[in-house]
Amino acid sequence: MISHLARAIAASPTFVLNEKARILREKGEPVINMGIGEPKNKAPITAILSSAAKLTSGDVKYTPPDGTPGLKKAIIRYTEENYDKLVAPENLLVSAGAKQSLFNILYSILNPQDEVIILAPYWVSYTEIVKMVYGIPVVVAPEDGTFHPRMSDIERSVTSYTKAIIVNSPNNPSGLVFSEQFIAEIVEFCERKRIYLIMDDIYHKLVFDGRSAPPAYKFTDKNLESSMIIVVNGISKLYGMTGFRIGWAIANRKLIEVMLNVQAQITSCTSVVLQSAAEGALLGMQSIVENLRLVLENNRNVIMQELKSFRDLKVIEPQGTFYCLPDFRNYCPSAIAGNSVELAKFILDKALVVTVPGKEFGMEGHLRLSYAGSVKEIMEGIERIKWVVDSSSPNEIYIGDRKIIRDWL
Ligand code: PMP
Repeated sequence: MISHLARAIAASPTFVLNEKARILREKGEPVINMGIGEPKNKAPITAILSSAAKLTSGDVKYTPPDGTPGLKKAIIRYTEENYDKLVAPENLLVSAGAKQSLFNILYSILNPQDEVIILAPYWVSYTEIVKMVYGIPVVVAPEDGTFHPRMSDIERSVTSYTKAIIVNSPNNPSGLVFSEQFIAEIVEFCERKRIYLIMDDIYHKLVFDGRSAPPAYKFTDKNLESSMIIVVNGISKLYGMTGFRIGWAIANRKLIEVMLNVQAQITSCTSVVLQSAAEGALLGMQSIVENLRLVLENNRNVIMQELKSFRDLKVIEPQGTFYCLPDFRNYCPSAIAGNSVELAKFILDKALVVTVPGKEFGMEGHLRLSYAGSVKEIMEGIERIKWVVDSSSPNEIYIGDRKIIRDWL
């Protein structure tokens, strides 16, 4: 017997697709994974040495539920350096990834039926986590064909049940960085209406073309104890340390205390070995992040160049992250007609390229393409996708050492 609530929670589509790709690759198939949301670089050496030292000490025990003092100190320093914001240890909770931070927050602020505004295109887990704590996700989609949210749309969707708005900029899946004006307006709105503004800043340093992502703190004069701003961050994307599962949340002390009680009852704490790794990464050479950013900016340029060669593809240039979200509605073979789930399956089937259907992000007709892989993979992946959907491309292709002829366009 399974509860109604648990039954309503969707599988994580990216994990499902990754598993499919892994199985195909194990069979020796030349799969290109443009679905995955993680950089390819190895963990920073300072992270490895720091966690190895902890492990070899054999002293691997529980830590305080909110995180080790050493890691918390490193996060406080990081916040001061990157946000120009001084936070106290009591404003900070370390969790098993930004994902658990988001769960802790939503569990701690929502009563059943409370609403959370989620801005499409959105990261798939927001809606599911809100549902997991008996809240109601209210999706607000831009109606002007862009990926940038507008305050007027958001204001129209706010009710007396609205407890929080989640903002993710740079954005997964669009790669967009939201404007200073928008961030300023939404901060002012949330502070005035006493609605929590959850800033998912997990990509905040992976921004291109000399831009920076405007931090919410810049636009409030309230101190942390009275502000509605909550910042979520972590090491997964910046240091390519997705497998270490360390993230954190910064909020007022009262909320952090409640989140700490929640987390202490669920996981006690995150592993001390992994917390040591995160501390090593945060205190180590930060040029690693800049190197990754440069690689991703170059990859962004490559993928944009390749996508521009399509006859009729609409694509908005990403300003950060390692995703883009082209609109394939002009391209679907007629049997698929705008159905991104079917299109992603068709591309995987015909050309062995993994993509993620836009439907999962509230953008039907689009596909999310990750450019976190190598330039070679990006070029070959896009060439294969073009071969599948664009009749102006040659109808023969080599996939691995197999020559295949297109017979469906
Ligand atoms: N927020 C966003 C927008 C993400 O894309 C991801 C990872 N895909 C997360 C949070 C979760 O990150 P973590 O690995 O720290 O749980």
